[in-house]
Amino acid sequence: MNIFFDLDGTLVDSRLRMYSLFQSLVSESKMSFDAYWRLKKENYKHRDILQKMFSYSEQESMAFEGEWLKSIELPSWLALDRPVEGVTEYLKRASEKSNLYIVTARQSEKNALSQISSFGWLELFDKIMVTNLVKQKHEMIKYVVKIEKTDWFIGDTGADIESGKKLGVKTAGVLSGFMSKEGLLTYKPDLIVNSVVDLKIT
Ligand SMILES: [Mg+2]
Repeated sequence: MNIFFDLDGTLVDSRLRMYSLFQSLVSESKMSFDAYWRLKKENYKHRDILQKMFSYSEQESMAFEGEWLKSIELPSWLALDRPVEGVTEYLKRASEKSNLYIVTARQSEKNALSQISSFGWLELFDKIMVTNLVKQKHEMIKYVVKIEKTDWFIGDTGADIESGKKLGVKTAGVLSGFMSKEGLLTYKPDLIVNSVVDLKIT
């Protein structure tokens, strides 16, 4: 069986990195970590937060977005990421029975690989696929792996569930990342779990 995992919010807790970069780019923000993530989980985009709470113009919001993309995968920010609790043990067990893949929409393959290696995960995966924001996840997978309908796609966003459905595999949404249960349910995944460690699919 093949299992395709999204990276951020699914295997890696990137919330501190994202919150900290937001605070660094929006110097007037006094928002707490919890307040920021409450808004994000309610599906507020940065643009909405900046314009409603900080009176940013459209142009200032776009400038923020440019700075965000330039900075979010720098090693100094990536250093704030942590593996989701218990995930390394889970992956070791799962890799004994299944072929595991990471499919991520990161922009920097080099920095993604170096982070995955620093967590000791490289040898647990058959392949790491990085879309560089130019390819779609399901298209990358299709070219590389022979899919069975009993395979799984695991992710924390609606886009991940849609990728799995486009591939015709089973889908699981995790609540360790960027979306609420109510938000994920609208994409109709086969399963919703708190974290990948709660998956009982292998
Ligand atoms: Mg994700």
